[in-house]
Amino acid sequence: MDVGHPSTCRSRGATGGSGATDAEVRVPGTVVVGLGGIGSAAAYHLAARGATVLGLDPRLPGHRDGSSHGRSRLVRQAYAEGPEYVALTTAAWRLWHELEQASGTRLLTESGVLAVAPIGGALVADTLAAARAHGLPVEHLTATAIRDRFPAFRVADGWEGVLEREAGFVDPEATVRTHHRLAQEHGAEFRAERVVDIAFGAHPLVRTDVAAYRADRVVVAAGPWAPELLAATGLRIVARRKVVAHFAPTDPRALGADAMPGFSIQHDGHLYYGFPDHDGQGVKIGRHDGGEDTTPDTIDRVVRPDEVAELRGVLERFLPGAAGADLDAYSCMYTMSSDEDFILGALPGAPACFVATGCSGHAFKFVPVLGEVLADLALGVRPRYDIGFLSPDRAAARASAAIDR
Ligand SMILES: Cc1cc2nc3c(=O)[nH]c(=O)nc-3n(C[C@H](O)[C@H](O)[C@H](O)COP(=O)(O)OP(=O)(O)OC[C@H]3O[C@@H](n4cnc5c(N)ncnc54)[C@H](O)[C@@H]3O)c2cc1C
Repeated sequence: MDVGHPSTCRSRGATGGSGATDAEVRVPGTVVVGLGGIGSAAAYHLAARGATVLGLDPRLPGHRDGSSHGRSRLVRQAYAEGPEYVALTTAAWRLWHELEQASGTRLLTESGVLAVAPIGGALVADTLAAARAHGLPVEHLTATAIRDRFPAFRVADGWEGVLEREAGFVDPEATVRTHHRLAQEHGAEFRAERVVDIAFGAHPLVRTDVAAYRADRVVVAAGPWAPELLAATGLRIVARRKVVAHFAPTDPRALGADAMPGFSIQHDGHLYYGFPDHDGQGVKIGRHDGGEDTTPDTIDRVVRPDEVAELRGVLERFLPGAAGADLDAYSCMYTMSSDEDFILGALPGAPACFVATGCSGHAFKFVPVLGEVLADLALGVRPRYDIGFLSPDRAAARASAAIDR
């Protein structure tokens, strides 16, 4: 892609602050702000359709500052979070395979995913309901069946599970790097610039620390930085601190991705998720709920011993062979919406400006389909999936909505 150099473009007067130039660069296409998990996918899908794309992100692909770092994200189709997502989860499953083919890169490990809960618990019931509503193949397992199939799991009688075979996990850092590479191969131009301000109008003006771009359209996918960047839009979003820990398995043979699935466990009023021992990473576990509201500038990056102890305790109870030596622990961020549904679509009153935010800790599995949908929106094509329930215009996405812990 070829966007003009500022010195060749007409000046439209002061752009103000942060060292940005006064000149506006005209971008006859889409500026993508943020090239992490979602933005890099949007840039790829746009560029692959021949569209002009300028991507802006001050950080290197695969960085660890945002929400798309590490080596594993669960990918499921029978979506307990809401059957209305299933058209998107099934499309994403197809697109993960297409992305692997297009890139020649292995991203997906099809380990299956097992959801475990006390009998009658919402996690298993909602997963089964989503599977039934959409005819997805899952197995409803008793505690005995879980122990027989997956000896690593210690699940007491009185518990149950649902196993989804067409599920597993993807490598987020490799995915971001892959989308970067493919987007650029298709002509997208990426610049290491930090966006300082966006004027959301018919032809949005995106100002960075070095330049100002007047685009036909803008897509904002700024992860946990979005609350600051989109502050003027009236969207209700907040970054939230989360902790993840890795432990060395004491019984590696029973805990690899060929012997056990990814998992989620509803336990003691909390929802835990985790991954088999993979690629020397050990068994990884995190808690989906809870955490403190934060910002990328102020997040506490130090993990407290009690946070690691809680996660170790869950493994000791449900996967005792996984609770070996501490390997790693770190904090990271979700970007929460008030109803934990994504905020996806055109900003109200700004039809050339599109956002993907409020992803509430469950968007990575959707990354390829979110890229496709954002490309549709930016090119004026009606997406083939119903995304109305994710609208930025819904009451729960607006500033007046409360965000629960
Ligand atoms: C610990 C953890 C576990 C998770 N587990 C799962 C899971 O198992 N399954 C699942 O589906 N999802 C999971 N998620 C959620 C998923 O990873 C996120 O929803 C997804 O990664 C969000 O991607 P993003 O593109 O919004 O954000 P990011 O990938 O963080 O990208 C945002 C980008 O914006 C850039 N940026 C910021 N400010 C600016 C600026 N001013 N100018 C230009 N660029 C800017 C940043 O540098 C960054 O590259 C998990 C998330 C976390 C944190």
